[in-house]
Amino acid sequence: MTSIDSSKHKKAKALKPGSVRPAKELCSECGLCDTYYIHYVKEACAFITQRIDELETSTHKRPRNLEDENELYFGVHQEMMSARKQQPIEGAQWTGIVSSIAIEMLNRGLVEGVVCVQNSKEDRFQPMPIIARTAEEILAAKVNKPTLSPNLSVLEEIEKSGMKRLLVIGVGCQIQALRAVEKKLGLEKLYVLGTPCVDNVTRAGLQKFLETTSRSPETVVSYEFMQDFRVHFKHEDGSEETVPFFGLKTNVLKDIFAPSCMSCFDYVNSLADIVVGYMGAPYQWQWIVVRNDTGKEMLELVKDQLHTQPVMSQGNRKPAVQQSIPAYDQAVTLPMWAAKLMGVVIDKIGPKGLEYARFSIDSHFARNYLYVKRNHGEKLEAHVPEFAKRIVEQYKLPE
Ligand code: FAD
Ligand code: SF4
Ligand code: SF4
Repeated sequence: MTSIDSSKHKKAKALKPGSVRPAKELCSECGLCDTYYIHYVKEACAFITQRIDELETSTHKRPRNLEDENELYFGVHQEMMSARKQQPIEGAQWTGIVSSIAIEMLNRGLVEGVVCVQNSKEDRFQPMPIIARTAEEILAAKVNKPTLSPNLSVLEEIEKSGMKRLLVIGVGCQIQALRAVEKKLGLEKLYVLGTPCVDNVTRAGLQKFLETTSRSPETVVSYEFMQDFRVHFKHEDGSEETVPFFGLKTNVLKDIFAPSCMSCFDYVNSLADIVVGYMGAPYQWQWIVVRNDTGKEMLELVKDQLHTQPVMSQGNRKPAVQQSIPAYDQAVTLPMWAAKLMGVVIDKIGPKGLEYARFSIDSHFARNYLYVKRNHGEKLEAHVPEFAKRIVEQYKLPE
């Protein structure tokens, strides 16, 4: 860790909403700069100083083993599994494992508050970060707000509240900044529950995506890019709409992802204690990665509420990844009938379980590597972590 003076940050001034952030166009609006912790932005911001390797070692007490394929891809971990809630939480993104862990931690007194993100009254996708102090407040934060979210904007409130034990739920860029200032928060114990994250967008970008892709953008309550190579939209009336990835209007959508997310290599949330996603698990199951003893303690609290099974892996992603690289680069869109056919074929013979997760990591890292090289070439060497360089090296990239 760098030597930073713990008394100085309170004199720093949060930036006003809408003002240019220190990371400029690469800012992912993680919320740190909305607080006096902006004082540490140079060391903390994932887009100014990439420190995943160093923070992984200090957080998990050992570095990622780059010689082990599972650690290379999914980060430091003790165990992985597929899981689903025996009684899913209605309206959660998947089965609600994230909300359930948070509720259990609060109810058992392990923490006094939970940083999570609800939505504004007017707009179900407008993120509103809060420190939840009741199970009801945690439940009101269920389901993804699929936009950049300033989760760390509540950090000043934590220090002022005098809380000593805290759970933070968040995505990779938020958690890197959090880990960098962790020692300054005055906590006795910090727990971090992460989700994977990729291809995030601003609120305006989300609108464009919904309007270009869904048959009824105004009734979408959630969506997910699934293992069957289709986007699944859930609508207000409970109906589901699926659109094949290959039929997405990539020529229109190419520019909607936020520049931060086109430059991000922390898809699997390397610095969380435990990560709950879906992409390494069979369809309709969630995927849990326990990184350290704290993560194990968190999982134990809900184990009796879960069905679990070992992780599985099937197929060969590499040809599909290699083909996806130029296709994305040239913004190729297949006609819908061909896209549907391709989706069906890939679903039958394509990568499943951990191999699907590796497919998604490979294709996003290759795309993002090219983006950084072309748009921020001077940052490439320091910004791309060693594990991501090794992953990208497996493929032939266009210039
Ligand atoms: P729930 O119980 O519904 O709880 C969801 C939690 O997420 C809430 O506590 C809320 O505070 C938090 N949250 C919601 N929106 C945000 C946000 N914008 N930033 C930070 N925290 C938020 N998993 C994969 O395996 N592969 C992916 O490619 C992938 N992409 C994702 C992209 C985004 C933008 C997000 C937010 C998540 C992504 N996930 C991905 C995680 C996955 O979609 C689920 O969130 C996760 O499996 C938890 O499901 P759940 O039912 O247990 O969550
Ligand atoms: Fe500040 Fe976070 Fe934006 Fe970096 S990503 S400039 S830390 S708000
Ligand atoms: Fe942050 Fe990366 Fe997710 Fe974008 S893709 S919101 S930069 S974790």
